[in-house]
Amino acid sequence: MPWRDELEPYKIWVSEIMLQQTRVDQATPYFNHFISLFPSVYDLAKASQQEVLKAWEGLGYYSRARNLHYAAKTVVKEYGGRLPETYDEIIKLKGIGPYTAAAVTSIAFNKPNAVVDGNVIRVLSRYYGIEDDVRSTKTRNKIQEFANRLIDEERPGDFNQALMELGSVVCSPTSPKCTQCPVQASCIAAGTAKTEVIPYKSPTKKKPHKHIGVGIIEDEDGKVLIALRPEDVMLGGLWEFPGGKQKEGEEIQQTVERELKEELGIEVKAYREFMSFKHVYSHFSITMHAWLCKLISGTPSANASQEIRWVEKSELEQYPFPKANKTLTQKLKKKR
Ligand code: SF4
Repeated sequence: MPWRDELEPYKIWVSEIMLQQTRVDQATPYFNHFISLFPSVYDLAKASQQEVLKAWEGLGYYSRARNLHYAAKTVVKEYGGRLPETYDEIIKLKGIGPYTAAAVTSIAFNKPNAVVDGNVIRVLSRYYGIEDDVRSTKTRNKIQEFANRLIDEERPGDFNQALMELGSVVCSPTSPKCTQCPVQASCIAAGTAKTEVIPYKSPTKKKPHKHIGVGIIEDEDGKVLIALRPEDVMLGGLWEFPGGKQKEGEEIQQTVERELKEELGIEVKAYREFMSFKHVYSHFSITMHAWLCKLISGTPSANASQEIRWVEKSELEQYPFPKANKTLTQKLKKKR
């Protein structure tokens, strides 16, 4: 990890927010880029939300970026630019939950707060032979209690990072390297040959799949119409092509025409599919169908968005879009 020896609380905070839903190898280039753009909490607080979302583009779970930005302003305004050092204070900041509060305060300020992430859950459930479902809150609370009892009061940050690293490097999900593990002698799962069945995770429900129809409207100069999503929804604050979910019994071009009428107050004719592609989110997946549309009547207005804007296709990449739209904006750029 590039921030391995990092002691600056701001950078530890940013890295922990990125690592909430992203693997280290994926987060690393984003972390470096983000820190080069916003090297201090003051730089982040001063930036516009669009700049922050653009730096986060492709990393997903954009509420993390919005909350981080909001919290940076709070830190500057209410804490004089210094991140609060205690668990009870830091957890009040937007976007910081129990896990991140424990991670940041232990690593940055040496506070004895045990961090329990997926890696720690795997190590401790195997070590103590916990066979209960690790998806349940009860089991997680039990593991948290074990971690709280184990934590090294003198070096809590090192303890937390060491336990997480043991999970990611040695006690891996499918083939733990027990013979190289420093705690093998007292590990119950290793001693009873149960590493394959611990931790137990109950099966997840199948993700629903949705079809989304979006419209590409060009004006006479070849500019296309994009909309800024509302602040308080999934992917809020990002730009998109107007459209929405297909209803039962509807053809996809009807979806596009209906959605554009609802969202922009205009009549369009969706005349040709430009492209379609699949994208997987954490709780559902989509097929996005992008249709070329001809404006029949009306003037577009931002009925369902913060703002709408006509932009040159070559300018599209200056705007933060959800990852799913990337292939679409790239193909559009080449369209004459
Ligand atoms: Fe994991 Fe094996 Fe170490 Fe137990 S001995 S903690 S199962 S790597």
